[in-house]
Amino acid sequence: MSRVRLQGVEKRYGDHLAVASLDLDIREGEFLTLLGPSGCGKTTTLRMIAGFVRPTAGRLFIDEDDVTAVPPQRRGIGMVFQDYALFPHMTIAENIGFGLVERGAAKDRVAARVRELLELIRLPDIGERYPTEISGGQQQRIALARAVAHPPRVLLMDEPLGALDLKLRETMQLELRRIQQALRITTVYVTHDQTEAMTMSDRIAVMNAGSVEQLGIPTAIYDTPRTRFVADFVGKINFIPGAVAAAGASALIVTPLGRFEAVNPDRLQSGQTATIAVRPENISFLSPEARATTVNRVDGTVEGRSFVGNLLHVTLRVDATTTLIVETRPQDPVPPDGARATIGWRPERAILLPER
Ligand code: ATP
Repeated sequence: MSRVRLQGVEKRYGDHLAVASLDLDIREGEFLTLLGPSGCGKTTTLRMIAGFVRPTAGRLFIDEDDVTAVPPQRRGIGMVFQDYALFPHMTIAENIGFGLVERGAAKDRVAARVRELLELIRLPDIGERYPTEISGGQQQRIALARAVAHPPRVLLMDEPLGALDLKLRETMQLELRRIQQALRITTVYVTHDQTEAMTMSDRIAVMNAGSVEQLGIPTAIYDTPRTRFVADFVGKINFIPGAVAAAGASALIVTPLGRFEAVNPDRLQSGQTATIAVRPENISFLSPEARATTVNRVDGTVEGRSFVGNLLHVTLRVDATTTLIVETRPQDPVPPDGARATIGWRPERAILLPER
């Protein structure tokens, strides 16, 4: 197991800053995901770790070795891409064993390692087939087996499940994670799919415009996003912009929709602009009794609803420009479309973000 460190790593293409001075410490055996929208610099970062892209500034370490100027083939990297890039004229077993043969490993050692990996990826019987004779999900498991046949110090994966349909992708997420844990290989994974990142990762680095906006475990990224970008990118969320009117461990925020209380972890000061962010599952429709005891309340008109899996997302129109989404379970009572309703949430369920 190896540790990977990026120190002030930057990549410019001409005037364009693709990755801005990035410090990142990837722990031994960790599964770390670079998550962000198209163009935020995920692939560039991964390719700098691999050695295919040379940083314009900064240094890169694998364990204690400065690999900034080391070519890709000497970094001990295994890579898996979206297009599996298996060799079509070779059998599955030959594909997996390719790197070992290249390194001059003895025939029986290669055969034993190939067998071991086919067992690990739960495809023990397909060694003699050719890549065109197996499914996309199987091909991707073979690509992974090939990447780890000669155990790399670090495994890099760039949208490896991007070409698969949703159902297969979900199965493969668990499968890749299981294999990574069995092998205990330090892994850096790139995806723009937040659900995938949440399912698979030990930690997630959410990237935006060439920088990491937040690095943390999946639940922290979801429950306590530190910026509006992260809150919005990961999961559904309602935003209510306003200004802090009274501040301490909790704050009172004045907004066009009313005054609301929220916990104040950043200790925002009175007068600062701030946005209240509340996840739909933390808002509920209030009964007349609950109205009396709930501090954060908003009135509106039920405008519509949509099913998300077995949950219901109900849209409440609050004014001409604002709607809020409330998540309810099918068994919860929900007012009909067109009805007036009051919703509310607990102060500790509101995330206070330090800008609009
Ligand atoms: P995607 O999910 O679409 O692959 P990404 O987050 O991986 O996006 P990168 O591919 O790292 O993003 O690209 C980051 C930025 O750098 C983008 O603005 C991209 O246009 C630019 N870029 C990437 N490669 C080059 C290149 N070879 N020459 C010039 N600009 C590039």
